[in-house]
Amino acid sequence: MASPDRTLHPPPRGDHHELPVHEVVLLLETDHERGLGLDEAALRLELEGPNALPPVDRRGPLVRFLVQFHHPLIYVLLAAAVATLLLGEVVDAGVILAVVLINAGIGFVQETRAEQALNALMAMVRTQATVVRDGVRRRITSEDLVPGDLVVLETGDRVPADLRFVTAHELQIDESALTGESVPVEKVPMALPAETALADRANMAYSGGLVTRGRGHGIVVATGADTEIGRIHRLVGEAEVLQTPLTRKIGRFSRVLTVIILGLAALAFALGTVRGEPVDEMLTAAVALAVGAIPEGLPAVVTITLAIGVARMARRRAIIRRLPAVETLGSTTVICTDKTGTLTANAMTVTTIVAGGRSHPVTGTGYASEGQVLDDDDPADLARHPALRECLVAGALCNDTHLTETAGRREVAGDPTEAALLVAAEKAGLDPDQLRRRLPRLDAVPFDSERRYMATLHRDESGRVVVYIKGAVERLLDMATHELDRDGTVTAIDTDAGHARADELAGRALRVLAFGRAEMPASTTALTEGLIDGRVTLLGLQAMFDPPRPEALTAVSACRDAGIEVKMITGDHAGTARAIAERFALGHGGVPTVVTGTDLAACPDEDLPELVAGTAVFARVSPEQKLRLVRSLQAAGHVVAMTGDGVNDAPALRRADIGVAMGEGGTEVAKEAADMVLTDDDFASIEAAVEEGRGVFDNLRKFITFILPTSIGQGLVILAAIALATTLPILPVQVLWVNMTTAVALGLVLAFEPPEADVMRRPPVPSSRPLLTRSLAGRIALVSALMLFGAFGLFEWALGQDEPVAVARTVAVNVFVVVQVAYLLNCRSLERPMWRVGLFSNRWVPAGLTAMLGLQLLFTYAPWMNDLFHSAPIHPAWWLGITGLGVVVFTVVEVEKWLRHPRHARRAAPTRPRRPPTPVDPGRRHDRRTRAR
Ligand code: ATP
Repeated sequence: MASPDRTLHPPPRGDHHELPVHEVVLLLETDHERGLGLDEAALRLELEGPNALPPVDRRGPLVRFLVQFHHPLIYVLLAAAVATLLLGEVVDAGVILAVVLINAGIGFVQETRAEQALNALMAMVRTQATVVRDGVRRRITSEDLVPGDLVVLETGDRVPADLRFVTAHELQIDESALTGESVPVEKVPMALPAETALADRANMAYSGGLVTRGRGHGIVVATGADTEIGRIHRLVGEAEVLQTPLTRKIGRFSRVLTVIILGLAALAFALGTVRGEPVDEMLTAAVALAVGAIPEGLPAVVTITLAIGVARMARRRAIIRRLPAVETLGSTTVICTDKTGTLTANAMTVTTIVAGGRSHPVTGTGYASEGQVLDDDDPADLARHPALRECLVAGALCNDTHLTETAGRREVAGDPTEAALLVAAEKAGLDPDQLRRRLPRLDAVPFDSERRYMATLHRDESGRVVVYIKGAVERLLDMATHELDRDGTVTAIDTDAGHARADELAGRALRVLAFGRAEMPASTTALTEGLIDGRVTLLGLQAMFDPPRPEALTAVSACRDAGIEVKMITGDHAGTARAIAERFALGHGGVPTVVTGTDLAACPDEDLPELVAGTAVFARVSPEQKLRLVRSLQAAGHVVAMTGDGVNDAPALRRADIGVAMGEGGTEVAKEAADMVLTDDDFASIEAAVEEGRGVFDNLRKFITFILPTSIGQGLVILAAIALATTLPILPVQVLWVNMTTAVALGLVLAFEPPEADVMRRPPVPSSRPLLTRSLAGRIALVSALMLFGAFGLFEWALGQDEPVAVARTVAVNVFVVVQVAYLLNCRSLERPMWRVGLFSNRWVPAGLTAMLGLQLLFTYAPWMNDLFHSAPIHPAWWLGITGLGVVVFTVVEVEKWLRHPRHARRAAPTRPRRPPTPVDPGRRHDRRTRAR
């Protein structure tokens, strides 16, 4: 065993491709068949560190902090601070600078937190790798890989580290992440000349590559930052993750607004000075205008709202990989979903076996071996039913899955469909392990959703060579020429009867697999596809039940209410797909129309949109056809979410507006191509993400509707003062105070609003719809006007009452703040009355209101705040007027909402309708009856 102070000494970078495998093995002190020992691997992990790229932060904290000052408004403020200093107002200059600093600090903290949260979420989708250690295959997270590990690569895997191949079978890897070359590269294990360029090193695979075909073994030669991609990563850093089309649009909007307001401020200054007003007063007014009217918090809040949305989606098991998806999710109009595992639980139990012309019910549920294969009402005697026996043997041997037992519970290592076949064999008294020993496997053609079958080649003790095959019924009936009758005699096949039996089983929502056998010449040692065609004898059918996921039933119904169409796209039999779709009430009036892959292939492009529009279920669809479906739906104006798990699903996932990959059952290729990954593969998580997406969009609209009246209202008050040549009702430092406190203590609260109760009862919002509709613009204008008259009116009134100007200004500032407080309550729902929303449904609201109240009391009554902000204590009577204005604004906006959306006031907040419980499978009912008898 290696000592802890030892280090590995790999050769200089890039030399592994020129060495023969046995030298690489020697160099890395490993074994090309058994891999590393478990202890050795643990030790190396300690020495080398995890196989992960160190986080790259292109902009250090200092730079990120300084960037906060890179904003036109800050330049204005800095200029204002200098000007104020020149005018001798040292305290004012200090306050402005302090506010600038605090503002930058808040921006820095928020941005850093948003960025960290997003990075952490992206990292939640961990890559898994298959290694051989101590001679046993194991699934581990790729972070635990170490140099010397023997890695198994299969179609759909991501290359988890830099590898030197030991074996490669028809292996192709897409290395575009590293080389930019999108055509997959064929891999071979032999040594290459030293000068071979990186892109041509066919005996190596580099971390980040994607296996598009075949399988192979390789020895890890570099991990983490030592990999080729690690070196590039260090050079270029990570792409900017916080940008989306919406943030860019809003960034542009606020820049244009800033320029306009700066222009207005300059104009006001010029006009006032020409008119003979004192320069310092005009400068103060211009600065106040710029500071008050520029909505500086807008872009930051948009990013924060998106980040909060992403975190919420993650809590509901949908991990966003690309931020723009958060926006698009809310506008989704069609969800194209897989069936197995997404709508159904992917927990298979064989309930019926048809072999030798007889139907045998199977009792028991789940993966426990308790239960029986029946013949009439008694346990079937396999010696008397050779076809049944062979059908079960085929299921057990043509199988890559293992059942393991942990804490008394059986767990599936592999495919649930195959696990169900092992269990069925056990229930009939067969022992899969013993069968594997008696008929060792010589070769295999793996299952693939395009081929739709799997075949394995075996030799028994007597030297007889046989192929067992299992797959889709249509596929096997196509290949088979004969079948086994009841007593095991090979007879000519009755294909029609086979189809009829399969259709009957599929109609009971069962997943049906057909089984076959082909006798081969004794010399056969390798299996190819062509070899078995035309030699197959059909052994029987096994039908399994896969219960619908209860939460998916509710979610599909919620989508229907939300105006989102759900289409099932499955590789399964049309009958099974239809029966499952009926349980989910897919299609118009709950009657699903079914189209098969063959129909799709025959449909010309011009007729496709019509066919697709009227169809709820696409069965026996190949992954390639998914891309055609996405395109057709998009051409019809739909925003499409599409699920996928296999390598061939990647193009459709990339093309879809929201590509959704399965976190549990999906390949790394699919995850890489997706915008969103479901950690539980459940349809309900897509629906949850759509709901959150709509919530995010709503919250952005709420924030904008909330924040703009402060800017416009303050801008108007100052413009009015300049135009009327009267005393400024609000000073630049006070404007700064109002903006900063209301944006942080009040506005930010809206980013935390939960989605409204009726968010999934509205039709999807077209992605082209602007954030601000005409009616919202009207509301903003109304509130701005109320602020203008309220603040200006009370200010003038206070002056008229011989109050000092500092008191009058304090009154005006409090008008702005209190009106914002009242208006915040309005903005929590843009259409529904405030009392329907409930004060405590967002726990940040009471916190924000309390903080705001405390700050305002300090501003008004704390002497040091009075010094800093030129405020003054006001008589309690003024609060009556100020609060009265708040109540007026609140009432006016509520009335306006009610006039525009009277139905919301009448109806109680709708609650989500619950689906009736899952109907019991007819096949199961049969089982229960049989057992009862
Ligand atoms: P979905 O696309 O909704 O997830 P699916 O899982 O049925 O549905 P595929 O995995 O493409 O889709 O399977 C297509 C068909 O291939 C199945 O209906 C079944 O008949 C057959 N099949 C599935 N798994 C296997 C397997 N492990 N071995 C052999 N045949 C299989």
